[in-house]
Amino acid sequence: MNSVFAALPTTVFETMSRLARDHDAVNLGQGFPDDPGPLDVREKAAEAVLHGWNQYPPMMGAPELRRAVATHYRDWQGLDLDESEVMITSGATEAIAGALLALIEPGDEVVLFQPLYDAYLPLVQRAGGVPRLVRLVPPAWRITDDALAEAFTPRTRLVLFNNPHNPTGRVFDAEELELLARFCTRSGAVLVSDEVWEHVVFDGRVHRSVLSLPGMRERAVKIGSAGKIFGMTGWKVGFVCAAPELMRVLSKAHQFLTFTTPPSLQQAVAYGLGKDPGWFDAMRAGLQRSRDRLAVGLAELGFSVLPSAGTYFLNVDLAPLDARLRDEAFCRLLVERHGVAAIPVSAFYAEQPVESVIRFCFAKTDATLDRALERLAGSF
Ligand code: GLN
Repeated sequence: MNSVFAALPTTVFETMSRLARDHDAVNLGQGFPDDPGPLDVREKAAEAVLHGWNQYPPMMGAPELRRAVATHYRDWQGLDLDESEVMITSGATEAIAGALLALIEPGDEVVLFQPLYDAYLPLVQRAGGVPRLVRLVPPAWRITDDALAEAFTPRTRLVLFNNPHNPTGRVFDAEELELLARFCTRSGAVLVSDEVWEHVVFDGRVHRSVLSLPGMRERAVKIGSAGKIFGMTGWKVGFVCAAPELMRVLSKAHQFLTFTTPPSLQQAVAYGLGKDPGWFDAMRAGLQRSRDRLAVGLAELGFSVLPSAGTYFLNVDLAPLDARLRDEAFCRLLVERHGVAAIPVSAFYAEQPVESVIRFCFAKTDATLDRALERLAGSF
């Protein structure tokens, strides 16, 4: 077997979670909360299963959920979306895979930003895309004019973007977003934007969707995820928002990938998206407190903590520890010797990896974070 996928290693998240289980470690690697998620939303899903929402829902998604997504984004992000411009997928990863299958032809160039979420590059390559990588470097991880000018060519067909950004925790600012929009409109590229962390932004930040950028309403695809909004990462209910011309093509990929998504979960998410704004603010505030708890604890242990403006993640730079270990070896040592799992950021690079940064997930209870910090105490 000699395909793009045959040569792939197992994803770093699965590998680190397995190591964490083997060593009975505190798992701050793979990004998932240790809270079970909002009770009322879970009850809605249970009721929906019990009361008959179990057959195929419409291919584009349950009308209740499509309406709820459009309303939610109007209220939270000022977007003017008709429900016909919303499609429900089985998670954001299906939405990304579908967008690539639907929108590029073999040989088309695709601009990506590294560090990149590990599913992006194999999916681009499997769809026949030719990757053009923009490199972001710590501690600023900024998108620059020069870097974009180098990546975009007359063959650029699509840009796969992620904001807020995993694994860096960056929320790109207006200047960077507008720069990216200018490059997309100039080259005629479609901007596919993974915005699954849109609600998880800190210190008073407000998420800005690519759909609101100048010239992007007709040429951008916004992707969201209920799993991230409600902290129930196994639910795999994604949303795709795009203008009708793009949506027509995107729906053709979706109909032959998963066709639909469990109707009970769709009903529960439709209910959840209408929750009181205070619930979303409290969720964000709770995660911000957890971020600060872990950041302060790690700094006290001598780690150099990089800023995290959004997502479940914060990074530490190993360089000041003079550890002389690359991130991967350091993470192995951490899980095997200290019983704490983290993710090496080099796993998010396709070439010239940054090897001195590791990622911790802070979407955990205080007790879990404190246990991890205790295990690391006195070690470095
Ligand atoms: N999004 C999660 C993370 O970044 C991982 C998802 C997965 O394990 N595939 O940790």
